[in-house]
Amino acid sequence: MKYEAFIIKYAEIGVKGKNRHIFEDALVQRIQHALDPVGEFRVTCIAGRLYVEARREFVYEEAIAALTCVFGVLGICPAVTIPRREHRLPDINALGEAAIRYFSEIYGPDCAKTFKVTCRRVDKSYPLDSMEVGAALGEKLLDALPSLRVDVHHPEILFHVELREQVNLFSEEIPGPGGLPTGTAGKAMLLLSGGIDSPVAGYQIARRGAQLEAVYFHAPPYTSDRAKQKVVDLAELVARFSGPIRLHIVNFTATQLAIYEKCPRDELTIIMRRCMMHIAEELALANGCIGLITGESIGQVASQTMQSLMVTDEAVHSLPVYRPLIAHDKQDIITISERIGTYETSILPYEDCCTIFVAKHPVTHPRLDIIMRHEKAIAGELDELMREAIAQEEVVTVTDSRAEGYAPL
Ligand code: ATP
Ligand code: MG
Repeated sequence: MKYEAFIIKYAEIGVKGKNRHIFEDALVQRIQHALDPVGEFRVTCIAGRLYVEARREFVYEEAIAALTCVFGVLGICPAVTIPRREHRLPDINALGEAAIRYFSEIYGPDCAKTFKVTCRRVDKSYPLDSMEVGAALGEKLLDALPSLRVDVHHPEILFHVELREQVNLFSEEIPGPGGLPTGTAGKAMLLLSGGIDSPVAGYQIARRGAQLEAVYFHAPPYTSDRAKQKVVDLAELVARFSGPIRLHIVNFTATQLAIYEKCPRDELTIIMRRCMMHIAEELALANGCIGLITGESIGQVASQTMQSLMVTDEAVHSLPVYRPLIAHDKQDIITISERIGTYETSILPYEDCCTIFVAKHPVTHPRLDIIMRHEKAIAGELDELMREAIAQEEVVTVTDSRAEGYAPL
């Protein structure tokens, strides 16, 4: 017996009242899509239980890898399911045989672990109640597989038996990423650099159901094609979870040089960041995004002190800026990036446009009025340069092979 089905646990979307079916439909669609390259599966949601059933042979590990990238999935339980025959659930003897087969094939006939049977009887017409089913199956398992032992308090194997529209047998749960299905929130523009933080920030907002677009500012020839490719690679890693990302690549060299030449050196970074936010907002508004996302975190660097963040924020006029890492320590962010698989790429040592002209001692407590005064002196030129940068943007759609053909909801 190999697993031919999975029960998908989903938490939050279960409590969304009238909108629940929207979230369930979205989750079904996202799971179906994620599994398309793995094999032929039927994904259904029956009375609040989400089932994935294989129609053909498939590689188990590939199915798990795909399912663990679907936001909204809280847990994946590989399961054995037994359908009704002539509308009837199997009797206790048939259940016993199925349970014995499950244990001997999943854990081996000589398995010496402790176990407990837990039964949920949703179909109240079943002749035995859940306690009786649990006790009867426990006894049958002990008789057939004598090296098993019962431990009702801390069992190594918690064997679930569900009597519902069908019988579900399962004992393992593989954690999913949680969150909400992609596309159930809105679309947001991620400022994606080649660092550790911004891919994690994008992942976290996408995990709440948002669809992503991204913008990357590069400064050729000061930043290389390798640095740009690294950002495309990072977008692809995030796209495994979020679905395809339209990545806007903006040439920032002229804007940066103008600031470098005409503004005080220690204000370069903060003014540059304001320009980035301004361009990102323009692109967001032109592309149906209803928020910006950055990887900023209080105090991480000079441009992320609370004073700097206040000055940066002022450059954005009509959209919220989501900063999911704002209160995270660097180590927490690294841990997440390792878990989602972006860390190794993020630490490749390619130059970033922010670091190229950076002053030795950038302002850490910028004053908005002073920054705005210096900015105003070159406002006309900056506006023109930013307009040109936007007009000349390059757009690529970055997609993980598994995300191809990802349909919008
Ligand atoms: P990251 O690790 O993501 O690069 P960081 O800690 O290096 O972030 P900064 O360089 O100050 O911090 O950038 C803060 C945020 O600004 C980044 O998280 C990202 O959202 C955005 N950002 C910085 N540089 C770029 C860039 N070249 N293109 C697009 N966004 C950028
Ligand atoms: Mg950076």
